[in-house]
Amino acid sequence: MITTQNIVHRFGDAVALSGVSLTIPDGEFVVISGPNGSGKTTLVRHFNGLLSADEGTVLVDETPVEENLVAARTRVGMVFQHPRDTFVSATVGADVAFGPENLGLPREEIDRRVETSLSAVGMADRRDARIDTLSGGECQRVAIAGALAMEPAHLVLDEPFTGLDGPARESVVSHLETLSTSGTGIIVVTHDLRDVWSLADRAVALRDGKIAVDGSPEETASELARIGIRTP
Ligand code: ADP
Ligand code: MG
Repeated sequence: MITTQNIVHRFGDAVALSGVSLTIPDGEFVVISGPNGSGKTTLVRHFNGLLSADEGTVLVDETPVEENLVAARTRVGMVFQHPRDTFVSATVGADVAFGPENLGLPREEIDRRVETSLSAVGMADRRDARIDTLSGGECQRVAIAGALAMEPAHLVLDEPFTGLDGPARESVVSHLETLSTSGTGIIVVTHDLRDVWSLADRAVALRDGKIAVDGSPEETASELARIGIRTP
């Protein structure tokens, strides 16, 4: 479970989050939308301690994130907006192994996780492929596998569909659906809800650093449309 309690985040004089309280239970599929600059990226970066709040508290499984950063980063996996810039190794398998290696896990356990994570995104046969030969959709799936190798309770994806063509989007969506069905909580940040609308348990929208909308897709559809967010 991820809980933010009234968090405020400032960049200099600019207030990016102004009092956000949100609880995301394990297993929930949440979409977070909102206009550009509304604070989506800033918010999710608090979920595993990549940013710390100026005011308020962030808890992962009831422990303040700053008290146990390793636990927060293990429980909450993050897939960044431009995964191509975040790979650390030359090959797919080595990159996915990087997180578990840093946890100091035994080699057999690392191999098992790499295998399972790559299978979960349909990339098991590309373990030895060079990262620089991957398409945009494949990069996104390898980035997801890298996060999954930590066996997180929640997987956070910031704008995962940007720059992907139709088939690549569909492929990423279908892998998210499988993960969600198997119990991983999914948190997708996107300005366009059409791809994941049918999978979501909950739609949250930010506006000016505050939660403007929060509810089931059915409850929130017309409200979202009113603030200019596209739904199917
Ligand atoms: P979103 O992801 O919804 O587009 P962000 O969380 O990236 O919004 O940004 C929220 C606000 O914080 C924006 O006004 C943005 O300009 C500002 N901001 C974000 N990151 C930084 C930063 N590193 N330095 C200064 N201002 C920032
Ligand atoms: Mg953003």
